[in-house]
Amino acid sequence: MTHTDSQRYLSTRGGSYGLSFEDVVLKGLAADGGLFIPEAIPSLPADWETKWRDYTFEELAFEILSLYISPEEIPSEDLKDIIKRSYSTFRSPDITPLVTLDESKQLYLLELFCGPTFAFKDVALQFLGNLFEYFLVRRNEGKTGADRHHLVVIGATSGDTGSAAIYGLRGKKDASIFILHPKGRVSPIQEAQMTTVLDPNVHNLAVEGSFDDCQDMVKALFADPEINSVHKLAAVNSINWARILAQMTYYFHSYFSLLRSPTYEQGKPVRFVVPSGNFGDILAGWFAKQMGLPAERLVIATNENDILDRFWRTGGYTKKPKAEPVEEVKPADGGVKETLSPAMDILVSSNFERLLWFLAYDVYGQQSDDVVEKRKVAGDTVRGWLEQLKTEGGFTVETPVLEAAKRHLESERVSDEQTIETIRSVYATSFPKAPVSEGTRGATGGYILDPHSAVGVAAAQRSIERVSPGTHHISLSTAHPAKFSSAVDLALRGQEGYSFDNVLPPEFEGLETKERRVILVPAGEGWPAVRQIVNSKVVL
Ligand SMILES: *Cc1c(COP(=O)(O)O)cnc(C)c1O
Repeated sequence: MTHTDSQRYLSTRGGSYGLSFEDVVLKGLAADGGLFIPEAIPSLPADWETKWRDYTFEELAFEILSLYISPEEIPSEDLKDIIKRSYSTFRSPDITPLVTLDESKQLYLLELFCGPTFAFKDVALQFLGNLFEYFLVRRNEGKTGADRHHLVVIGATSGDTGSAAIYGLRGKKDASIFILHPKGRVSPIQEAQMTTVLDPNVHNLAVEGSFDDCQDMVKALFADPEINSVHKLAAVNSINWARILAQMTYYFHSYFSLLRSPTYEQGKPVRFVVPSGNFGDILAGWFAKQMGLPAERLVIATNENDILDRFWRTGGYTKKPKAEPVEEVKPADGGVKETLSPAMDILVSSNFERLLWFLAYDVYGQQSDDVVEKRKVAGDTVRGWLEQLKTEGGFTVETPVLEAAKRHLESERVSDEQTIETIRSVYATSFPKAPVSEGTRGATGGYILDPHSAVGVAAAQRSIERVSPGTHHISLSTAHPAKFSSAVDLALRGQEGYSFDNVLPPEFEGLETKERRVILVPAGEGWPAVRQIVNSKVVL
């Protein structure tokens, strides 16, 4: 038994090939600045649709993950155990339940927020935390002294990633986690979620500055030879391949849930609609489709930070649209617009680079029969595009590349105003019959969306108007409404039967008054102050 092509990894910028899954998970980012992708996309087994049909979420996860991880690296029994532990923390036995939002329109909502921090990032970060621990425990077998591997996970957050990462890594052996957040600029619930975790290996740093300041500090630490000579640093941001991989499961799981639904009509197409920021969530769907999941199309839903939407409309991937006069942007916000769906407020989408590689491979690799040559062409092309993005603020692809992108994906941009309107109209018109997650139903029976999920539903409604009748739409719901209470309140205050107290799940009650632990990084202190904190907290 050896590694198949889909169990070995390469960098999107051509600098490394043939890496193991463990390598790419622990490294996070390739040495050439690229992202890791599998050397090939695996196909599903011929009988998958009948054989997997009634599998649980965990059983499906095992089948899918096994296509990308060699049993030589993680024996099957171990992988099953990691999966089982990762999803035992979820509140729903279904892990990611599918809700029928509008029967007449065949619109379904995939609730991805049943993990410990009430956002979709838990699906991947619960798994990643256990994976880190598994690799570390194995590397440390029989070691007792200074030769033990200790992983130092460092990340910056504007809210969601940090809390999900902390819950993924709390209490894990041989790992410490440091999460930097801009002091006073994350939502009160998110701040409480992070700082009330008191496990000794969890460290919250409140930085007097912006999210970008936090991110710059993290970048500086990863580039610093001194800290790298002492500690083994790891990243948890959405560029980690294991996160994309773990997210593939719910595309299959929801597809099978749909087939079981009494309203499913055989032969009608299925579309997935995904509220997108860094392009990680929808990229997992793209992989699922490439593997053979019969999804007719994937719809990207962006908020007003719409670089992805602009790409799909024009083929140009630019930080700022050219036609618009470049306004004076404060360095603090880096040109990102603050919206009601802050987890999607991005300037560029880091995971988009992974899709670009496959598009370049298909379009420009055509001229050659040699796989090695095709890969080289793809890596060179991606490196060129990313270089242009860095030096000129953007790049434009040729028509065949855009056409290839449009074959599987399309996009919609949703404004804040439309987000509010969607939360309101869904509340007034959608009354799911079956039980839904706690806190997502008002007293009238109307469904309560969080603003990110509302961006998805707004995009789904537009898609429904465009396509053939009967097309099924699965719209991904990425957060629980209680996490983004101010936007939900803005939309629903005064509506019949709405009271925010009913939205709040019991897990959040009393959170604000619980004991907290947080280290202040005062304004003007640079990243070396963070290095000093790490050194003082992690004593090897
Ligand atoms: C992270 C996040 C998103 C965006 O997902 P990407 O993988 O970055 O595209 C959407 N909604 C919520 C609530 C999130 O936390």
